[in-house]
Amino acid sequence: MDAPRRSGRLTLKAPLTVSAAPVPGTATTNNRPDKRKRDKDDDISDSPESTTEDFKQNRDSLKVLQKKSKPVQYLIPDVEKKETTFRGRLGEYDVILSVAVHLQQVTLVLRLDSIKKNGIEWVKGLGKKNTEDLLVMIQWNEDNNIRFLRVSSEMFPFASHEIYGYSLEYCAQSLARVGSLANKYGHRLTVHPGQYTQLGSPKPEVVQSAVRELVYHCEMLDRMGVGVDGVMVVHGGGKYEDKSATLARIKKTINQILPLNVRNRLVLENDEMCYSAEDLLPLCEELDVPFIFDYHHHNLNPSSIPISAIIQRANAIFMRRGIKPKQHLSEPRPGAITLMERRAHANRCENLPPELPDDMDLMIEAKDKEQAVFHLYRMYNLHPVDYASLRPPEENETKETKGRKSNKRARTQAGKLSIEDE
Ligand SMILES: [Zn+2]
Repeated sequence: MDAPRRSGRLTLKAPLTVSAAPVPGTATTNNRPDKRKRDKDDDISDSPESTTEDFKQNRDSLKVLQKKSKPVQYLIPDVEKKETTFRGRLGEYDVILSVAVHLQQVTLVLRLDSIKKNGIEWVKGLGKKNTEDLLVMIQWNEDNNIRFLRVSSEMFPFASHEIYGYSLEYCAQSLARVGSLANKYGHRLTVHPGQYTQLGSPKPEVVQSAVRELVYHCEMLDRMGVGVDGVMVVHGGGKYEDKSATLARIKKTINQILPLNVRNRLVLENDEMCYSAEDLLPLCEELDVPFIFDYHHHNLNPSSIPISAIIQRANAIFMRRGIKPKQHLSEPRPGAITLMERRAHANRCENLPPELPDDMDLMIEAKDKEQAVFHLYRMYNLHPVDYASLRPPEENETKETKGRKSNKRARTQAGKLSIEDE
């Protein structure tokens, strides 16, 4: 059946049934893979046995699935209607690239062995494919009113590696095409290098590795021709038993080690364990490095100053730098009580924060990614949604997750320092 489309404000009396093919890479733009299927496949891909053979098999099975796929129907429940004056963009984070979903699983488990076995050119080929898939993703996002995207750090496997790292020049044309499509549509592209990007580590080799990681992300954004809004978000990192000494080292790294183009894209974000907003704001103000306020992290690791004051100070830095302000939103999973449980992100967000300024880019760091964005679109009537793109929420969302993906990856991916964090 044809999926109904919403125009203007439509109150739904009953759950909708949506038809869509559940397989990635099929011809129509709405056929983005089912999020839960992706998670399931991710688990499979974390098996250390994944090899080039798997890669080929995945590709073959993808072709078979494309031929055999039949539309399936999803029941889309209605959402609670809420009011807001917010008119900014909502962002989708760390998307596993749409048609690359099978390929990307392979990149997740790439280890140094696979470079030795298959050669660096094979690895670089994955990066090229990911870049081409990003074009498809941006078009899909445009068709679905999502104009703010965090590009995966896994685009170019091992690009920042101390020994095997490589320049992205071989992909210059594809990256430029991605950037010009994003610029044409006015999409914001940002990145969030992983938790091992420790600018304040007492160990010089750790700082060097963090700098390489930032240089790689910056090269990707620079080659895309992304403007100043293309920021690179990092956390304060570890405290190393002395927060103020670590903050001093972060300052030194930013001031003395980071190349200018890298520094210009750098922004710092409060985290839920070590550095609250009030820990980072003075440093950000002193260095004119923008500060990203994360509501979820703030709730777990609060500051003594009110949220409104934090946002005002953060926005002042963004304004001075001519960069569009940006924040992060996520919620704890239902029933979460302990700190560890509360750290895990819920599949979707149920509320926009009352303190949220009207004109702000808000990255939605929820497990359901684009579906979490659509959920807020529908609740707050922010944008029309194409019902063919919707997937139902998981029925029994628990307070536990199967563990942070970053930890799983850290275990299986010893050779790669780019581990995603939220
Ligand atoms: Zn965040």
